[in-house]
Amino acid sequence: MAREYAQIVVGLPIDRIFHYSIPEGMREEIDVGKRVMVPFAGQRLTGYVVGLSSQAPIARVKEIGAVLDPFPIFDSEILQLTRWMADYYACAWGEVLRVASPPRMKRVGRKREEKSIEKPPLLIPTPEQAEALKLIGKGLEKNNSTTFLLHGVTGSGKTEIYLQSIARVLEKGKQAIVLLPEISLTPQILLRFGSRFWGRIAPWHSRLSRRERFQEWMRMREGEADIVVGARSAIFAPFKNLGLIVIDEEHETSYKQTESPKYHAREVALERARLSGAAVILGTATPSLESYFQARRGKYELTELTTRVDGKIMPEVEIVDMRKELTVRGNRSIFSLRLQHSMRECLERKEQVILFLNRRGFSTFVLCQKCGQALRCKYCDVSFTYHSKTERLHCHYCNYQEEKPQVCPKCQSGQVGYFGVGTQKVESELRRLLPEARIGRMDSDTTTRKRSYSQILGSFQRHGIDILVGTQMIAKGLDFPRVTLVGVISADTALNLADFRASERTFQLLTQVAGRAGRGDVHGQVIIQTYNPEHYSIQTARLHDYPNFYGQEIKFRRELGYPPFSHLINVTLQSRDGNRLRKVAGKLGRILEANNREAIDILGPAPAPLARIKGKWRWQIILKGSRTGEMRELLKESLSQLKEPASGRVRISLDVDPMGML
Ligand code: ADP
Ligand code: ZN
Ligand code: ZN
Repeated sequence: MAREYAQIVVGLPIDRIFHYSIPEGMREEIDVGKRVMVPFAGQRLTGYVVGLSSQAPIARVKEIGAVLDPFPIFDSEILQLTRWMADYYACAWGEVLRVASPPRMKRVGRKREEKSIEKPPLLIPTPEQAEALKLIGKGLEKNNSTTFLLHGVTGSGKTEIYLQSIARVLEKGKQAIVLLPEISLTPQILLRFGSRFWGRIAPWHSRLSRRERFQEWMRMREGEADIVVGARSAIFAPFKNLGLIVIDEEHETSYKQTESPKYHAREVALERARLSGAAVILGTATPSLESYFQARRGKYELTELTTRVDGKIMPEVEIVDMRKELTVRGNRSIFSLRLQHSMRECLERKEQVILFLNRRGFSTFVLCQKCGQALRCKYCDVSFTYHSKTERLHCHYCNYQEEKPQVCPKCQSGQVGYFGVGTQKVESELRRLLPEARIGRMDSDTTTRKRSYSQILGSFQRHGIDILVGTQMIAKGLDFPRVTLVGVISADTALNLADFRASERTFQLLTQVAGRAGRGDVHGQVIIQTYNPEHYSIQTARLHDYPNFYGQEIKFRRELGYPPFSHLINVTLQSRDGNRLRKVAGKLGRILEANNREAIDILGPAPAPLARIKGKWRWQIILKGSRTGEMRELLKESLSQLKEPASGRVRISLDVDPMGML
């Protein structure tokens, strides 16, 4: 094989292959898939060898400095997968390889063997589980990368299905990847997998040290571990004969990486499954519109679990119409009389309460307190954002603007106001209302340190706290048997996000929140406060009716051509110089329009919902079309024509299939 030159990519946002010459003494050592040290623009950088050749396209090439790995860390499957990612997400191959790399380590000792734990008894599947397992089993026999959408409420036995499907895969000498949202990667869940497959599990999460990461990666590579249970980047596990990928809570937005490379682990999983012939199980209580759409059109196999294994019924959900609170009941508090009453009852019975507030929107929306109507863009059907400086309403998709109306356009009342309640305000009002209650608050302010997160939860678990107030981080996976009341302060903050997925987010959040009530032996109660009691997201969540929600939401998506009927690419421009930024954004917008030969919608440029971060102004342009390939081509061509001097730099970043608009 020709070993004079190596084709190398580096972990910078430059999607190009560079040629380096291989010194004589390094020719035995070098190989595709290994890391090397290379001189690059006056620096020494880590490079990834993606090919070897006998010639270089240019005469003067630099020399490789050192080979860093004793064996290739990427096989051809991972190289193909990462190349596909670089193409699809319009980023550099080297950036993808950087996130797919194990840490570098000299030599480290073997991992200590864990203490043997007692094996739990094998569970006999319920009839519903048996049916799902039969279907999945057939798919596993075929080795043709079938995707299963496993739709079942929390506690319906999905994890048990993952475990039994994995057991089948291992019997055939194959390996499995299990992806969980980072927040669900608790010691309890790892123990549940670990006790079933003792010694075969490699955990993969952010609490691992570099050394531990390296050790786990080596165990997978050497065949000591054949199941990885981990967060997003576990999708790059070095398995040679992958049989199954499980993605739990497949609808979770945290599967999308927010920094470059901005990949979605679910999409990457589907591609890896295609390359390796592995099956995929997508598990969730609230499928993403994208996945359910694929199941409905027969691309995925749908399998459903409709009841909880323990036979418990879903909690009762009550909706409080906040429009009537002031006008009919004369109550100005953020707590409805109904919620106040239930909280008091709950405390008297020595039970616990969770009060839930959606992450405060980045921006303020405007809502009529009489009829509940939030003001929305007539072109995009996305909530307007109110800018106090200009006193105008902005659409962050198409940049359409309006004056803030004096009266509600629907009911003509004068009660149009901004909206947004923070967790702090909820906490202080609560202290005034129920001075004897012990109150805890959990949001990103109080939980910046990892400790306080587990401290607050620990205290709540021991009943040192009666009422826990928090953002959606308390809606996930936690199990508190003494919680019998869950209150949602305002469903409207989720419903009115400046995002086309606002209704989907609302349905998911309310369903998840409702799942927190009545986990123990006592029946639970859920109270949702809203100015939009008739909204289908709220009504269908109340009845735990996903198909009905899907039916209504998919109509809206189809009418406005939003995903899954299209793909979006979000182009974000950032600069410290606001004026220049506006000009450059305008210019890019015009170039895009001029180059647009396909039927691609170009929305904006418009100020981003989060208009300024750390002194940098932000604008965005959204591309909407049916084929991402054409959209990327249009962008590539247009960006190369946008020649801007280096002064007052404007940084441009792309997000293909964005999950949230910041
Ligand atoms: P999910 O993943 O859908 O939330 P789990 O798989 O965690 O559901 O199941 C919920 C509970 O029911 C767990 O405690 C689990 O051990 C138990 N369980 C699941 N399947 C069975 C079964 N077939 N027989 C008895 N218990 C089961
Ligand atoms: Zn109104
Ligand atoms: Zn608009």
